[in-house]
Amino acid sequence: MAEGKTSSRVIILGAGVTGLSAGVRFLENGCDVCIIEKAGYVGGLARTVVRGDYRADLGPHHLYSKNETTLNEMLGLFEKDEIVPISLQAKILFYDRFLDYPLTARSVLSQMGLKHALLGSLSYIAMGLRNLFALKFKEDNFQAWVKNHFGDYLFNIFFKPYTEQFWGVSCEEMSMDCVPQVTKASFMRTLQRVFLKKYASESLSVEEIDVGNEKSVNFYPVDGFGAIAEKLKDSFLSKGGTLRLNCDISELTINEDNTYILHYSNETESFKDKAGYIVSSIPPSSLFRILKPAPPASVVLSADSLKYLSTVILYIVIHDRDVLDCAFLYMMGRPYNRISNTNRFHPSLCPEGENMLACEITCSFNDEIWKSRDEELYKKCIDHLESDKLINRDEVKQFFTVRVKNAYPFYRVGYREDLNTIFEYFKHIPNFALAGRVGAFKYMAVDECMEGAADLAKQLKTKGTI
Ligand SMILES: Cc1cc2nc3c(=O)[nH]c(=O)nc-3n(C[C@H](O)[C@H](O)[C@H](O)COP(=O)(O)OP(=O)(O)OC[C@H]3O[C@@H](n4cnc5c(N)ncnc54)[C@H](O)[C@@H]3O)c2cc1C
Repeated sequence: MAEGKTSSRVIILGAGVTGLSAGVRFLENGCDVCIIEKAGYVGGLARTVVRGDYRADLGPHHLYSKNETTLNEMLGLFEKDEIVPISLQAKILFYDRFLDYPLTARSVLSQMGLKHALLGSLSYIAMGLRNLFALKFKEDNFQAWVKNHFGDYLFNIFFKPYTEQFWGVSCEEMSMDCVPQVTKASFMRTLQRVFLKKYASESLSVEEIDVGNEKSVNFYPVDGFGAIAEKLKDSFLSKGGTLRLNCDISELTINEDNTYILHYSNETESFKDKAGYIVSSIPPSSLFRILKPAPPASVVLSADSLKYLSTVILYIVIHDRDVLDCAFLYMMGRPYNRISNTNRFHPSLCPEGENMLACEITCSFNDEIWKSRDEELYKKCIDHLESDKLINRDEVKQFFTVRVKNAYPFYRVGYREDLNTIFEYFKHIPNFALAGRVGAFKYMAVDECMEGAADLAKQLKTKGTI
């Protein structure tokens, strides 16, 4: 059994950005911290996979934050030459037109074409009349929400095809939370300006993160995005934290005195570790399988109902040329939702003279796409890449995939009730926190994971828990 003062001993499940940054914060508050990770590496969704001479993020990712303190903290992990500012312009292929993305009022009117602007305006007016006569759709799903705020035409030509391609289910099955609050506000401002006022440059995005435009500052570590987690790991270890990789957790017992005992093993050893506080950044369904006493069946059912969308990223290596004339290209009616041009992130991700395109194909874990061989996925994609005149198969040097099981919390209608059931249950479990994108089932970028970890430590310090 690991020794230590139980009240200040913290065990963290998962060594992604959330687990690592929480680990650093708890150490800074004088706790004794151990992180237990299932995989043989740190970083989780924010890692960089090294395949021979190539470095592939699960994305790719880029680093940014609207919070200056968090941004400076993230940048402060690096030496000056280890991270660079990048400009990431994005476009969307809308029918046969390349539009600036996120859509701006200007691009809706000037790039989508007269027909769409006209029909969109008429539909927007019809929507206004419908709302005026109290004939609004009941806003209990994404489809109703979009139709009530943007009209049927924009829903049918833009929101529906992209959203259904991305999530693989009808917009009626998606919760309106699949568009983040901040983006909803931005939609409203944009559309109001498009249809009621004059041109403006507000952005309109169906992406979880506004990728920004050439004006916004993003950063990228020259060794790949995974360097952030590596830096956090170094900081955690240098402050005296314990990190155990390749671990299989068999049981997490809640004791009557509100302490915990964790049973886990790696290839060579078994451990029984005591803690006064637990932070879990692993999926709630996995957590509930190890908790003793077991939570009520209804709570377990809710945890099992929370699903994640998976993604397969097909990396295609070509000779070095700036294929897309932007960093990201969003597409509808293709096997992939988004193509990224990795040399626009950093050329060191592949050998000199080469570039990689990352095609992101969302799917469900273990479905046909997930189980497809790399060759099959490549075959599906290359026909479209050729017919869109982006690349041709003769210039492809090689391809490989990176698969991500729990990539996106699946915000289906009803997910919120399940999540509330889980949080309600944890209100009665002392000294326990669900944290992070996967652990708290919440869309979060890396900066938000780090902020969440800092807030948690601060809160517990204030309360005197640690
Ligand atoms: C395709 C994609 C693109 C993205 N792009 C960006 C971007 O550009 N910028 C940005 O800031 N963010 C981006 N994000 C979001 C970012 O990756 C996440 O917010 C962040 O990495 C989440 O960290 P986390 O620690 O909360 O979760 P995770 O990274 O999922 O960490 C959870 C950890 O728990 C481990 N684990 C799971 N089960 C167990 C178990 N039973 N026992 C022990 N350990 C377990 C996992 O192996 C993992 O290491 C993107 C995400 C995706 C999917």
